[in-house]
Amino acid sequence: MDVVRTPAVGWIEVIVGSMFSGKSEELIRRLRRAQIARQRVQIFKPAVDTRFAGDHIVSHSELRIPSESAANAAEVLARVRPDTEVIGIDEGQFFDAGLPSAVTSLAARGARVIVAGLDQDYLGKPFDPMPQLLAIAEYITKTRAICMVCGNPANHTQRLVGNRTRVLLGAQGTYEARCRRCFDPSLAEAEERRQGGASVTAATGDPEPR
Ligand SMILES: [Zn+2]
Repeated sequence: MDVVRTPAVGWIEVIVGSMFSGKSEELIRRLRRAQIARQRVQIFKPAVDTRFAGDHIVSHSELRIPSESAANAAEVLARVRPDTEVIGIDEGQFFDAGLPSAVTSLAARGARVIVAGLDQDYLGKPFDPMPQLLAIAEYITKTRAICMVCGNPANHTQRLVGNRTRVLLGAQGTYEARCRRCFDPSLAEAEERRQGGASVTAATGDPEPR
């Protein structure tokens, strides 16, 4: 009897939340499970994210997994090998508007694609292209941190330093997880005024300030 193999069906999973909510840990956990099952896995992070190791995704809790850097969504698409079954993408908010169509075509050819990223910027505004990815994903996980002021569930990333560029890399000391009540989007602006308008931290340019 001939065995007819059904072509694999792909799908998109999105993990979003504030900083310190465990997004990268959750992404790494899922990718490790796939590796243990001997599935072929490729992992990408944006070339802009130079924190931590150059060729690993590292969570704040020091979990790490080897990864490749990609400058944009087109490069991710070009570097995925035909036999890759699971594709992980960290810091999806640092990719361009082409990411949703790139992951759609990967899922269409049978891959499981998992994207983690910030759903909001430091002003609490949706952080493109994560909203578009949430709209097309089969599975969505929202991770929450704990408010560093009051201890309630935190959904926002509070910037503590005076800088109004949208992309400002940093971790402890630059950002805090905050709940809805303790989140203050005007704090970064007020801090910048207090410092006389000078940016005190290295920042990458923001092509489209909001
Ligand atoms: Zn709070």
